[in-house]
Amino acid sequence: MTDTFQLEIVTPEKMVVRDTAEEIQIPGKNGYLGILPGHAPLVTELAVGEISYRNGGSAHHLAVAWGFAEVLPDKVTVLAEIAERAEDIDVQRAQEAKRRAEEQFGKGKTEDDFTHAEDALKRAETRLKVAEEKN
Ligand code: ATP
Repeated sequence: MTDTFQLEIVTPEKMVVRDTAEEIQIPGKNGYLGILPGHAPLVTELAVGEISYRNGGSAHHLAVAWGFAEVLPDKVTVLAEIAERAEDIDVQRAQEAKRRAEEQFGKGKTEDDFTHAEDALKRAETRLKVAEEKN
């Protein structure tokens, strides 16, 4: 068995990552999944969260939201609505989005308003966390 697998992270707009990896953490709908080479095949829905993977001793981090990940023994494919590498995250934009989302909590009237604000806050907080982890 090899000690790496192929990794592709794709959004509707572009190929964000095509790399090899030794290990990856994926935010699944029911919690984070740690994947090593040779993992049993599975498909999981993605939550809003952070993908971290290691390749040749260096760690890489991305913010992702929605979509699916397919795990095969020698390949992991992530099809995400949104995927941003740590170095591509606009921190000021995420801070402003976080502030707006917090404001919405105060002003929200319907359950939809709160869900919307909660989702926006989660995306913004994930972006800020991931941006801090850039190499
Ligand atoms: P905002 O209110 O700032 O637009 P949002 O969470 O509503 O934030 P999304 O709907 O999640 O934005 O994303 C829309 C597009 O903008 C996606 O392509 C996403 O990758 C990009 N994007 C959003 N926020 C950032 C950011 N802080 N840095 C880099 N790209 C971002």
